[in-house]
Amino acid sequence: MLIDTHGRKITYLRVSVTDRCNLRCRYCMPREGVPLRGHRDMLSFEEIETIVRAAVELGVRKVRLTGGEPLLRKDFPKLVVKLASLQRLDDLAMTTNGVLFAPLAGKLKQAGLKRVNISLDTLKPERFREMSGSGDWAGVIEAVEAAVKHRYQRVKLNVVVIAGYNDDEAGDFVRFAMEKGVHLRFIELMPLGNDFWSPDRALAGDELRKRVEREVSLSPLPQDGVATEYQIKGSPSTVGFINPLSQPFCRTCNRLRLTADGFLRPCLAGQSEINLREPVRHGMSGPALRRLFYEALRLKGQGHRFNGGRQESNRLMAEIGG
Ligand code: SAM
Ligand code: SF4
Repeated sequence: MLIDTHGRKITYLRVSVTDRCNLRCRYCMPREGVPLRGHRDMLSFEEIETIVRAAVELGVRKVRLTGGEPLLRKDFPKLVVKLASLQRLDDLAMTTNGVLFAPLAGKLKQAGLKRVNISLDTLKPERFREMSGSGDWAGVIEAVEAAVKHRYQRVKLNVVVIAGYNDDEAGDFVRFAMEKGVHLRFIELMPLGNDFWSPDRALAGDELRKRVEREVSLSPLPQDGVATEYQIKGSPSTVGFINPLSQPFCRTCNRLRLTADGFLRPCLAGQSEINLREPVRHGMSGPALRRLFYEALRLKGQGHRFNGGRQESNRLMAEIGG
């Protein structure tokens, strides 16, 4: 079992499968892109499986595949099949920008993917283009509809909230979620990835909640992982607020992160990481590999330090996977 020096039990691993992306969200990626790592530097599917297996042996029960954009990874459904066959892994999910998801929704469900979070920051196509550099807003809407049609469990929309950009859409998002039968997650903009974050662009989740409550009645639900959750009265949809800056949730953090190039990171912010790629490439598995997880755990600090808006992470969000 993985319990860190602050008594937190780790049951959740986020796995970035690529640092590549087909979008250029301004808060995440520099417009010119990022220096991409070579194919040899990326973990193979077999290496990812070895690492996830070790994590499951240590008590991890939930894995989320992310990126970059995970659907850019060639043969991604094959990785899903491999991981879905791991016993005692209760939950296999992914986070995607949705652009490539709709045509693959059925295949991925069949492969064993249980849940999907789709990132969408605006319901206005022109804003989407401005913010992500892509014109394929309609493809993301199709992704939401395909996820519902294929009966994924609890389809969620991730919305990063940026003051002066999309904070006027809170009510529209709530109505959209209710209409489509999905769940909403509003995420505070974090100072990670590039220098997009500024105090003017930040909006506290509580302020946004008040705006949502002008449109619908909310009743509190138990905390769901890092999100403060509410039921929208009169609807099966829920709305959650992930407030890493205004209400840090580090005390209950239950996760580790694996980068696409094979480094285990105890925290999204900060710079600590343990290289698993080389040991696994040299055949390490079993107890020796599990020991490296304990080493990463020892590096897990009590809380993140976003340091007044300056990022402390040495990696971009797309490398770590959010
Ligand atoms: N490309 C996929 C996507 O966009 O869903 C998966 C990777 S993306 C890095 C994972 C999540 O991180 C997305 O929901 C994205 O909106 C969020 N994210 C990226 N940069 C962020 C930032 N600076 N602050 C808050 N959330 C961020
Ligand atoms: Fe790509 Fe996701 Fe980052 Fe947007 S948030 S640039 S879709 S990795």
